[in-house]
Amino acid sequence: MEKILLHDKTFRPFISYSRLEQAIDGIAAKLNEDFKDATDPPQLLCVLNGAVMFTAELMKRLSFPLELISLKLSSYQGTKSSGKVLEVMGLTAPVEGKTVIICEDIVDTGGTIAALKHMLQEKGAKDVRICTMLLKPDVFKARTHLDYVGMEIPNAFIVGFGLDYDELGRNYKDIYVLDE
Ligand code: 5GP
Repeated sequence: MEKILLHDKTFRPFISYSRLEQAIDGIAAKLNEDFKDATDPPQLLCVLNGAVMFTAELMKRLSFPLELISLKLSSYQGTKSSGKVLEVMGLTAPVEGKTVIICEDIVDTGGTIAALKHMLQEKGAKDVRICTMLLKPDVFKARTHLDYVGMEIPNAFIVGFGLDYDELGRNYKDIYVLDE
């Protein structure tokens, strides 16, 4: 695999697509076990835009009835978290009385996911589970429990597989890290 140039920065290959597929297989197996007897279909919540590839890969491995919903949030600008969680686009369906499985691409400090879980509970969701493809354990500081984690990675800025650097890089199927 080759390095890629996005805006002014170079990124080098970091996590292969086949490794990501293994991590997603693991999450899917746990969800299939946990929801095999669910009577009320849960909502799979895709956190746009970053989680779009992960959500698509995950949902095709899920074998129980579910509803797909989405929401757009943003707290990142450039390569550093701005710390604020901003609701950019509302939820596409009501969550009241529902079990919601949040599909997030990556959890960094945990601020975004904690705020999102809180917001869904305020809106009346019955049960909120957190599912993230990637976690940076060294910087995670939220007290929120993460129910399903695909893979842990060091504290570095990555792109690809849905993740962007100022909107570029989402289309690559492998993950790349900032080459410094
Ligand atoms: P947190 O609130 O956990 O600090 O940040 C979570 C959000 O920041 C994620 O949803 C993701 O959009 C963004 N983010 C965190 N780390 C990275 C990274 O390494 N690369 C990219 N492109 N986005 C990241």
